[in-house]
Amino acid sequence: TCIASGGAAKGQGVLIIGATGFIGQFIAEASLNDGRPTYLLARSSSSNAKTMKVLQDKGAIIIHGVMKDEELMEKILKENQIDIVISAVGGKNILDQLNLVRAIKSVGTIKRFLPSEFGHDVDRADPVEPGLTMYNEKRKVRRLIEELGIPYTYICCNSIASWPYYDNTHPSEVLPPLDEFQIYGDGTVKAYFVAGSDIGKYTIKAVDDLRTLNKQLHFRPTCNYLNINELASLWEKKIGRSLPRVTVSEDDLLAAAAANIIPQSIVASFTHDIFIRGCQVNFSIDGPKEVEVCDLYPEESFKTVEDCFEDYMIHVDDTSKGVANGIVAQNHVVDALPITAMCA
Ligand code: NDP
Repeated sequence: TCIASGGAAKGQGVLIIGATGFIGQFIAEASLNDGRPTYLLARSSSSNAKTMKVLQDKGAIIIHGVMKDEELMEKILKENQIDIVISAVGGKNILDQLNLVRAIKSVGTIKRFLPSEFGHDVDRADPVEPGLTMYNEKRKVRRLIEELGIPYTYICCNSIASWPYYDNTHPSEVLPPLDEFQIYGDGTVKAYFVAGSDIGKYTIKAVDDLRTLNKQLHFRPTCNYLNINELASLWEKKIGRSLPRVTVSEDDLLAAAAANIIPQSIVASFTHDIFIRGCQVNFSIDGPKEVEVCDLYPEESFKTVEDCFEDYMIHVDDTSKGVANGIVAQNHVVDALPITAMCA
């Protein structure tokens, strides 16, 4: 049977797909913290059984299955009386969501679906390849949702609050630089940085908020509206010393994207779109189908980038203030790519 074991909790049942992933974990934690009945889809092929177990110990209910299996997904959604489905599957598996969307349509009782977005407005942003391919896939999922009339919210949470290494898929897992900063272009293009815990918190707030029904939800916390020069200064204040800055030019980023090394080149194409073209800030949110998170929840506050950087300090050796202790600073990862960062 697909009916999950565990006590029947009250409230709307939330099924999270991709809960063991980088973004999915924040969402699962937020759902559990909010006391919602939280169901997680687990693949037998997962290499993240430990994370599943941690979430299960916090009250999550595990359901085994594969998102691509439309019939099975229909059964899971019905038998567990799921109301809300959130997908946070990684970039490789975006199109697997098409079958899930069809299953949601067949069941007919799902009140909200949040597809795996968690970045930019993919209809608006236009990165170079290979990022564009991922956006085309996300666009395809959006179109099917809209065509089938499934109630949705698209989460456009912008950048995760961390040092935005252009060749790293999960930048918050690595320390900001300890030897030199790589500054994209002239370093003056702004972006919005959001802590993972806030991505989770506001995603969960939005799932049954009528104001986010069939809308894009943009995250624009003014406290975290920063360019990369300002980000560098914040980190220098934390470590108590200044670091040299080298320029990674637009051409460097385009070359890294064109190298087509997956997933690093995808990140390079997004970095170009954010820090050269200004894709997060070159439009205003005033369309009928878009809302902004600070407008909806003015009483809530966002974790600042400064506080996020403070969290990294436990990994920096106190005496030397510059020696990574435990996790790695990723200054030289560029060596893996055919790029030479040029001195400013
Ligand atoms: P990850 O690669 O870290 O995690 C993917 C998760 O999806 C895993 O839990 C994996 O489970 C699960 N999964 C993958 N395929 C399937 C499938 N077919 N059926 C069921 N489960 C599946 O993903 P990310 O967190 O990096 O990415 C999630 C979304 O967030 C993406 O849309 C990405 O573009 C976006 N993102 C945004 C960032 C930002 O800064 N704004 C940063 C990073 C990502 P398993 O354990 O079984 O492998």
